Amino acid sequence: MRVTRHKRQILLFLAAILVPAGVLIGLAGRLMYQDRELGAKRAVDQRRAAVDQLRRELSSRLEAIKLQEINRLMRSPNGNRPQDSASPAVIFTARPEGDRLVLPWEGSAPDDSAAFAKHREEGEAREFAKRDDAGAVAAYRLALAAAGSPSESAEARLSLARTLSKAGKPDPAARLYQTLLDAPSDARDEQGVGYRFYAAERLLAAKREPASVLSFLRKEIDGPERLTLPELYMIRSLIGAGQKISERIAEMEQAAALAKDFARVRARVESGGGSGWIPYGPPSSEDPWLVTITPPQPPLPGLVLAVWSSKVAPPGVKLRTRVAEGDALGDAFPGLSVEWADSRALETVHQGLPAGIWIAALALVLGVAVFGGYLLLRDVNRDVRMNEVRSQFVASVSHELKTPLTAIRMFAETLAMGRSRDEHTKSEYLETIVNESERLARLVDNVLDFSKIEQGKKIYRLRPTRLEDVASSAARALQFPLAQQGFQLHLSVQEELPELQADPDAIQQAILNLLTNAMKYSGNAREIDLRLAARNGDAVIEVVDHGLGMEADERKHIFEKFYRAPSHESRLIAGTGLGLTLVAHIAKAHGGRVEVESAPGSGSTFSILIPIPKEVGVQV
Ligand code: ADP
Repeated sequence: MRVTRHKRQILLFLAAILVPAGVLIGLAGRLMYQDRELGAKRAVDQRRAAVDQLRRELSSRLEAIKLQEINRLMRSPNGNRPQDSASPAVIFTARPEGDRLVLPWEGSAPDDSAAFAKHREEGEAREFAKRDDAGAVAAYRLALAAAGSPSESAEARLSLARTLSKAGKPDPAARLYQTLLDAPSDARDEQGVGYRFYAAERLLAAKREPASVLSFLRKEIDGPERLTLPELYMIRSLIGAGQKISERIAEMEQAAALAKDFARVRARVESGGGSGWIPYGPPSSEDPWLVTITPPQPPLPGLVLAVWSSKVAPPGVKLRTRVAEGDALGDAFPGLSVEWADSRALETVHQGLPAGIWIAALALVLGVAVFGGYLLLRDVNRDVRMNEVRSQFVASVSHELKTPLTAIRMFAETLAMGRSRDEHTKSEYLETIVNESERLARLVDNVLDFSKIEQGKKIYRLRPTRLEDVASSAARALQFPLAQQGFQLHLSVQEELPELQADPDAIQQAILNLLTNAMKYSGNAREIDLRLAARNGDAVIEVVDHGLGMEADERKHIFEKFYRAPSHESRLIAGTGLGLTLVAHIAKAHGGRVEVESAPGSGSTFSILIPIPKEVGVQV
């Protein structure tokens, strides 16, 4: 029976908890997976939208810059000096000539005017061939007077100052060099070096106010004027390498590389449809240039425009030349990719519910399912146990009824048949019949009272009662069975007790139950005490036996309905498990309680304690 019950429980557990829980976990897993998929798809869409938006933004910015540059060059087709560009993003706008790119600062120097050239050649002949410094000075002075452009006057001043210092006149020479520092930036010789830098070099060599010359050079590096590569190299040799100058040199070297590489650059731009922008710079560049080529628009020839990518990219976006990492920007920007510095395009990746919430929800559902299952199992178990207890109860009550009934019948039949003529035996038979019917009546009383208690219908009728009377009447009622089984009952009243408000029938029933238990569980002992005493304001009825006793964990349960100790010894003794339940109920109905002291093998003491009302106590 046990085994089938276990089987049923396992089946129930599987059906009610494990299977639904498994299905739930499966469903949740599937949902989670779908949620992730959706999140990833949304992220991809979002990213694509961000790239589209960036492409539009970039295109319009670059288009605006291109138009601005074209307009600027239209207004002054010859004055395309880079420093005139209105946009800080523009690196240069240059003209292609065949497969060559002419950078704006490479513009060929205008031809010298004839008068200037004549005097300059004269001066050079005197200075270098004839070693006639005075004559050279005079010739250069004439050249200065004849100079037709800032470039010519700067050249004349430089030669003049040089010969003056050779002629042993350092002061006027230094003064001339000083004025040369203010020469315009496009006054350059054919090497592309501004005359003002030669002046600075000479002043430094002559140790003339070196501090102010150095600060002049530094200002030139930081200033807006574009310096040519030879100028930058010269400054670096004069003041040493610094971050700023290295940056400028790198920029100009890159421009030179681009000019050299122009055929390839043009092929790349044209491969993208011709009007796109391509990145230009080393692959690892943090800030590649964006380069485009505009078709010729008379009077302007085609133009090559280079801008800083960092200056046209919106904040939070970095443009890169690599396509492998980052998102490609499409055909308008061949070879250009985006790196998102902020997470605006990536935010949505985790927009689906976080895994923690899924797991928590799942755990909650599982927890509820398991708890529900536990409650279900507990209820089922309780029902099963209750049924077992009931059938056991019916069996034990039937058994208890049958024993006295058999005895009564047997003795009554013997008497009826008149077999026994001996008066003494006859009266003994009769006494047994009376005694057994009393036992029957007590049993039936117990069962009826229990059922009344269960239905909440048990009524106790309290009236002034002397416990001594009740106790002696109970002892008398059991006189015959006690004597028959050889028991000695010692009734003792240790203290005079006052009359209590009590139901004497109920109290007697309780004492009888305790006394019959004492007889049942006495083992070989044959002494039972019934004592009345007063203790701490309570009237105490004590029933003491010296029999089997019980274990502590048994003691906890003996007042529960239908409880019977599981030990083998007690099992052999007939009983219903109702006696002590009733004793406890009766004690409680009188405002008292039942206490028990017991140890296995040394007997038990059951005490019913009923409080003595204060005023009664005072009267006595
Ligand atoms: P029962 O009909 O089984 O005697 P009770 O409610 O009177 O039912 O008692 C419950 C259990 O308490 C008993 O089965 C027995 O194990 C234990 N018990 C009661 N009285 C005693 C006692 N005097 N000595 C030892 N065990 C006792």
